[in-house]
Formats: sequence, structure tokens, C-alpha cells
Amino acid sequence: MADSTAASPRSVVPSHENRPVYVVGGGPGGLAAAYALRAQGLRAVVLEKSDRVGASWRRHYDRLRLHTTRRLSALPGLPMPRRFGRWVSRDNVVRYLEKYVEHHQLEIVTGVEVSRIDPAPDGNGWLLHATGGRELTGSAVVVATGYNHTPRVPDWPGRDSYAGEFLHAGEYRNAKPYAGRDVLVVGVGNTGAEIAVDLVEGGASRVRLSVRTAPHIVRRSTAGWAAQSTSILVRRLPVRLVDRLARPMAKVSVPDLSAHGLPRPDTGLYSRVNEGSVPVLDVGLIDAVRKGRVEIVAAVDGFEGGKVALADGSRIEPEAVIAATGYVRALEGLVGHLGVLDARGKPVVHGARSPRTAPGLYFTGFTNPISGMFREMAIDAQKIAKAVARRAKGTRAARI
Ligand SMILES: Cc1cc2nc3c(=O)[nH]c(=O)nc-3n(C[C@H](O)[C@H](O)[C@H](O)COP(=O)(O)OP(=O)(O)OC[C@H]3O[C@@H](n4cnc5c(N)ncnc54)[C@H](O)[C@@H]3O)c2cc1C
Repeated sequence: MADSTAASPRSVVPSHENRPVYVVGGGPGGLAAAYALRAQGLRAVVLEKSDRVGASWRRHYDRLRLHTTRRLSALPGLPMPRRFGRWVSRDNVVRYLEKYVEHHQLEIVTGVEVSRIDPAPDGNGWLLHATGGRELTGSAVVVATGYNHTPRVPDWPGRDSYAGEFLHAGEYRNAKPYAGRDVLVVGVGNTGAEIAVDLVEGGASRVRLSVRTAPHIVRRSTAGWAAQSTSILVRRLPVRLVDRLARPMAKVSVPDLSAHGLPRPDTGLYSRVNEGSVPVLDVGLIDAVRKGRVEIVAAVDGFEGGKVALADGSRIEPEAVIAATGYVRALEGLVGHLGVLDARGKPVVHGARSPRTAPGLYFTGFTNPISGMFREMAIDAQKIAKAVARRAKGTRAARI
């Protein structure tokens, strides 16, 4: 990885003509943006807080594979190798990201955490405050910090005094520490569903999965046709129409699990996506629930001594609780003061558009599209790069 003098302590690029575009975050979204910017003839410097790119993927649990296909998950300018198979493993995702940096000779500065972004004092671009008092001035900034780094744990009553083993899914690696033990997984997103299956396969003595709202469950692929391909085809159709189309498809492909505590959801599949909840892509949950190897229990309401209080009034006493309760974007410190976040902390724009109040500031990776985030980040990268290039040309023309 190339180190960059642009990030030396308190460096300030003298002429705003030469200011690079800073990309904050060296995950797939940031790397794709950096490549696309370079392809537009712009200098892009990626600032990554950890010591290597792909930090989020390095931390994910061992059995994780992309549930989007290899072909539809490649970033611009470099396909994923065929030998990675259709559903690419976590380790191969990391290999791919490393190769991506090397292949495109991207300019990456690791160990630099950006804590705040302000308008540049001279009105040309953005001033980034980073680790060690660094102040970096960029002509534009792409925020690609991801939203899988800061765990969201509900403020459950009694949680602080709960004496049992408790961890967030972000800390879960594999089932080894739970072999022969009674475990409760809280939350049935893709992560909770997969961890529950992993625990069963890894020999936990009992696995319960706490569900507040029954999810839509979709087969990852049917007769060789990937769910992701359907999602891409329907994503521009009206929400109500997709909801209607999805209902009979679900009935054909997914058995009724209501007797096991997982009824079919009342709200449509695409409506739920728009509310921020993507369907669970089945990697073994259906089977495990049908066989009673994963028991569905009510939502967690709180903790009472060594017990977990469930919404149906029951109390259970698992040996370990794994909260698969998601993450927060945690953008407030970075850009919250710029008026570019909505009430839920999500950027008001993404992709090629900059907020009206913050021209030259771009966001990628903060949505959760059913068509696959790798794919969307790849598309966004190219759109962002074109938008930045257009702005740069406009600025130059205005000066002549
Ligand atoms: C378990 C799991 C499975 C997923 N599976 C798929 C899938 O199959 N297909 C798919 O398309 N998507 C999938 N996603 C969604 C998404 O594609 C990934 O989360 C992807 O890693 C997001 O990329 P990103 O670059 O936006 O964020 P990240 O990969 O999280 O990268 C962000 C980077 O920014 C760095 N960073 C953060 N804050 C700062 C800062 N202030 N300064 C400097 N650096 C910073 C982090 O260290 C990190 O390296 C999955 C997500 C999860 C959690």
C-alpha cells in the first residue's frame, strides 16, 4: 500500500487546485470509489482507521459467505476470480479487497481515523480532522465508513446487572466456545439467522432464536437462479406490485413455519425493505426450525438477575446470549454538525448527489438495497467519480 505525504501531520496542501479527493474508509465502498475517481483522472487518497483495508470483513464470523453472487459482487475494474466459487467466503472477500488495492495501485493511508469533517476555511473543499491532530484539506470527500462497526444493543432493563455471558454478534467468530451449551440468539436478521444455524451445526446443546417481528425468508437460490437476480429485476417496480408478486413466490418456495413460531409476515416483502429490513436469505434456518433444532421464542423485554425476560411473560435461563441486533451508522461525530443526516442518522443523499448544504461531500454504503450492497457500491462509485469530475471541471472553468 502506498503511503501518502498528503496525510503527514498537520499537512495542508498549498494550492486548492492540487487537493486530492479524500475517501474516508477502506472497505469495498471506499476502495471502489477510489478506483473510479482515479479512472476519471482525479487523485484519490483513502484514509483507513485500521491497519489494513477490509477491516469489517476481517472481523466477520468464520462461516460467512457473500449471499450475493461472485459475479454480481465484483467492484469496478476487477472481476472476482472464478476459483472463489459462486458464494464467496469471508477470507476470499478479504483477499479480493487486498488484490483490488494492489491491482489498481490505490493510494491508501492506514491508521488514520477521521473524526470530523468541516468546510475548508478558504471555501474550497473540505477540512478533515484526523488521528494525531492531522488536518487534511481535500477538494471533495467521499464518506465510506460503513455501518457495521458500531453495535446497536437495545437499552434493555436489567442488562447492566445481567451476570450471564452476553455478546454482540459483531464479536461472534464461531460455535466452538458454545459447544454443549444453551444459547439464545436475539434478532432474526441475516446475521442472527446464520449464527443460530452455525451454533446448531457447531454442537450447542440448545439454540433459541428470539424474534420480535417475523421476517421474510427467501431461498438464496432456487434451481440455480439467485434471489439477488430477482431483486435486481424488480427493484425499480412499484413497491405494492413487488409485495404482491413476492407473496405467491414465498408460498411456493418457503414452507409455512407458523407452527414453529415463524408465521408469514403481514407486511409485504418490499415494503419491509423500505422500512430498513431486508429479507433473510436462507442458509439453513428453515431446515433447522422445522427440525426443532432452532427454537423460536418471543422478543426479549429485559433481564432479571440471571434470567432473560421475554415479551410473552416467560423467563428463560440460557448460558449465553448473543445479540444480533444490528449496528448504527455512527456518523454524528463525523458530519452530524453539517445538517446532512436525517432523524435516524442516515445521510440525506447517497451516491452521485451531494447534500445541498454540503457540495462536494458524498456518501456511499449507507443504504441497504435488496440488489446487494457490493453491487450498488460499485455502481455508486462510478456515479460519484463522474459527479466529482464534473464539479472539478466546472470549478476550473469558473476560474478561467
Ligand atoms: C455479516 C454481513 C454480511 C454481508 N453480506 C453481504 C453480501 O453478501 N453481499 C453484499 O452485497 N453485501 C453484504 N453485506 C453488506 C455490505 O456489503 C458490507 O457490510 C460491506 O462491507 C460494506 O462496505 P463499506 O465499504 O460500506 O463498509 P465497511 O466494509 O464497513 O468498510 C468501512 C471501512 O471504513 C473504516 N472506517 C470507519 N470509520 C472510519 C473513520 N472515521 N476514519 C477512517 N476509516 C474509518 C473501517 O475501518 C472500515 O475498514 C454484508 C454485511 C454484513 C455485516
